[in-house]
Amino acid sequence: MIDLRSDTLTRPTPAMRQAMASALVGDDVYGEDPTVNELEARTAELLGHEAGLFCPTGSMANMLGVWLHVRPGTEVLCDQQAHIARAEMGGHAVLHGVTMRTWHATSPTPGVADVADITDLMSIGTGPYLVETAAVEIENTHNFAGGTVQPIGHLRAVRQACQDAGVAMHLDGARLWNAHVATGVPMIDYGRLFDSVNVCYSKGLGAPVGSVLVSDAESIARARVQRKRLGGGMRQAGVLAAAALYALDHHVTRLADDHANARAFAEQLALRAPGVIDPESVPTNIVVLGTGERPAAGVMAAARERGVALSTVGASKVRAVTHLDVDAAGCREAGRVLGEILAS
Ligand SMILES: *Cc1c(COP(=O)(O)O)cnc(C)c1O
Repeated sequence: MIDLRSDTLTRPTPAMRQAMASALVGDDVYGEDPTVNELEARTAELLGHEAGLFCPTGSMANMLGVWLHVRPGTEVLCDQQAHIARAEMGGHAVLHGVTMRTWHATSPTPGVADVADITDLMSIGTGPYLVETAAVEIENTHNFAGGTVQPIGHLRAVRQACQDAGVAMHLDGARLWNAHVATGVPMIDYGRLFDSVNVCYSKGLGAPVGSVLVSDAESIARARVQRKRLGGGMRQAGVLAAAALYALDHHVTRLADDHANARAFAEQLALRAPGVIDPESVPTNIVVLGTGERPAAGVMAAARERGVALSTVGASKVRAVTHLDVDAAGCREAGRVLGEILAS
């Protein structure tokens, strides 16, 4: 099976397992795990923040990051396809009393909103009439929109608007690594524009588990308490942090291969089914493709029968994600198979 359902499917490489096996560890709830401490410090520095917090999942890191900026009964604004809105099981509402309103950004770049569309949604100083906007959340790269990159100039403009309005900003940077590799924009240039940032080590970077939330030291101290409250205080977690550190040192620049493979996938697809995709438009390691009149579930099932696993994003869109565990030939073959299905 050529499995392109997600870049979370990557398994730790032998060298990564070696790093895990030899990690120095301690009790991280006591703050005594040297490997976790190193990962938190390095991630914070990389993103231009004071402190970091190792979390078991990106969902928890987002939950804590947004929580830093809100009170129950306030709202966060985000894209309607945002992971925090669609894929975190309503945790922000259930656990933290936050409501969400969303913008819908489809063109010219899916998932990248006009600054005016964001500011239009803000409710500031509305007293007892409207829910107060506490935070804006941005996803970079944007997963369900097709791995699209938020341009740095655009992010600077959003930052300015939020600053003017007194609204905090959280970045879901689960795949910020991919944006960095695709554009050459330093991680720190992205990181500094936000009050808090989540980055995942468990996606394309290939670690089995783990995300880090970064922010200022006082906020991270608060988040550390809330993480424990949510059941996320881990003990000898250095075994996991070692995998993330290994990924940081060895798996960032190679994301360019995943991006090239996504493009090669799209090229094969476009050869067999002309017009369904412009390979030039594939920004990173994710391809989201409209299936037109055909239900996405049917296309997915047909591909699976021919040895290619995809996922769906809604009723008429399929998604392919390239990653460490599928090579260039596999990605081209997957593109051929999907192209033949769509052309038939
Ligand atoms: C995967 C992902 C997360 C975090 O997911 P977990 O499975 O909880 O680690 C957050 N945001 C985006 C955009 C993601 O793709």
